[in-house]
Amino acid sequence: MPTAEVPAGYRPGHIAGNPARLTPQQRELVGIAAALGRERFAPRAAAHDRDATFPFDNYADLRAAGLLGICVPREHGGLGADFATYVMVAAEIGRHCGATALSYNMHVCSTMWAGFIADTLDMTPAQRDEHERFRAEHFRRIVQDGKVYSQPFSEGGAAAAGKAPWGTLARPEVRDGEPGYVVDGRKIFASLAGAADFYGVLCTVDRPSATLRDSLYLAVPADAPGVSVTGDWDPLGMRGTVSRTLLLEQVWVPASARLMPEGLYFQAASRFPHMFATLSPTYMGIAQAAYDFTVQYLRAEVPGMPPVRRRMYPTKQIAVAEMRVKLEQTRALFLANALDAGVDPDKDTRMRIYAAHYTIMENAQALAALAIRTCGGQSMLRSLPLERLYRDSRCGSLMLPWTAELCLDRLGRECLYESGERDEEIE
Ligand SMILES: Cc1cc2nc3c(=O)[nH]c(=O)nc-3n(C[C@H](O)[C@H](O)[C@H](O)COP(=O)(O)OP(=O)(O)OC[C@H]3O[C@@H](n4cnc5c(N)ncnc54)[C@H](O)[C@@H]3O)c2cc1C
Repeated sequence: MPTAEVPAGYRPGHIAGNPARLTPQQRELVGIAAALGRERFAPRAAAHDRDATFPFDNYADLRAAGLLGICVPREHGGLGADFATYVMVAAEIGRHCGATALSYNMHVCSTMWAGFIADTLDMTPAQRDEHERFRAEHFRRIVQDGKVYSQPFSEGGAAAAGKAPWGTLARPEVRDGEPGYVVDGRKIFASLAGAADFYGVLCTVDRPSATLRDSLYLAVPADAPGVSVTGDWDPLGMRGTVSRTLLLEQVWVPASARLMPEGLYFQAASRFPHMFATLSPTYMGIAQAAYDFTVQYLRAEVPGMPPVRRRMYPTKQIAVAEMRVKLEQTRALFLANALDAGVDPDKDTRMRIYAAHYTIMENAQALAALAIRTCGGQSMLRSLPLERLYRDSRCGSLMLPWTAELCLDRLGRECLYESGERDEEIE
């Protein structure tokens, strides 16, 4: 009887664990992302990282594959992917190029927030009607014209942490009979700076005593008068995101630039917290990549390396086992979080979001560090991807609004306090 052919070499697993449990669309889109990632993004990642250049080539591939419209509703010509499907695709991309996955997230969030998240929120019939008209144009630009949106909200102060109104102001002003806004502000860490066609800017409607509730989310054309990109970009990791500083000086945009009605961002942030949980899938991918690299390295299967095996040493086996345990713990929370997303989550679900986000960000960094220690000295050479994974993974837990610290702050408070409870003496 012929023996079954045993495939040679390590075969990395599916980013979502058991693919049989996925929907057909999830399997298909993750498969497309995997092929693009392996064949296109991974070979280009080192150069974009070294030169801190934006991966326009990867975006051309994403555009050609229809993935710019992944979360654009089907009735607007997009792929209509839900939250779970998107985060799986994002994690698969992150496995091959972290910077592409992270900046892609900024683009996709613009469509997700204006799309299925906005659908779950309260609007007046007039707001809903107007939102439908405005978003149809944003979605058309993306699906038909291949335009790329970004999402600069950080300003260097408390606003991106959700603790103060945006310092970027939008003053209502009618020009040539058309209502609109004049926008003034400065956004730091604006991923896709100089690369996006539209910057999805979070701002505050400029009115007396404006609060967090007076939020406004506007798509500002990159070529509008008064828009400029400034500063250098030479960071530790995620270098291909090109997150330079964006200046908005007296930029007028029409009211149709709104990606959400006035005030709706505040409602979204309060009622649909998973909107911020899309930053961690990139790092799920990085965690998987660090593990995959370690296994290949210890098996002497990394291309270009001398065929020296290290897998027979018990300490390597224990280390890789610990890595696998950490990876599966991370994936379990990643998948739970993916399926939990929805409007008005209960308290336990909210707590799970923070726990999942924290775990993914912190474990990606821990796994990349363990990978270097386990593989050994040669593994950190710049000719190999592991040191890039290590640097990229460091960025995750710094990202607002849910830095590792802020996740712990929120979680600690939620663990010990029920709604409305206060301790005056320590407030
Ligand atoms: C690679 C990369 C890409 C990025 N891309 C984008 C992007 O596209 N768009 C975007 O908007 N942002 C982006 N960011 C920015 C990121 O989310 C943070 O906003 C940014 O790192 C802020 O840096 P900071 O040093 O001002 O933050 P921090 O100093 O950590 O925080 C800023 C402020 O938040 C408050 N704060 C922070 N921690 C706490 C705490 N524990 N308790 C209470 N208040 C606290 C404080 O007021 C503090 O001054 C990116 C970051 C990285 C690393």
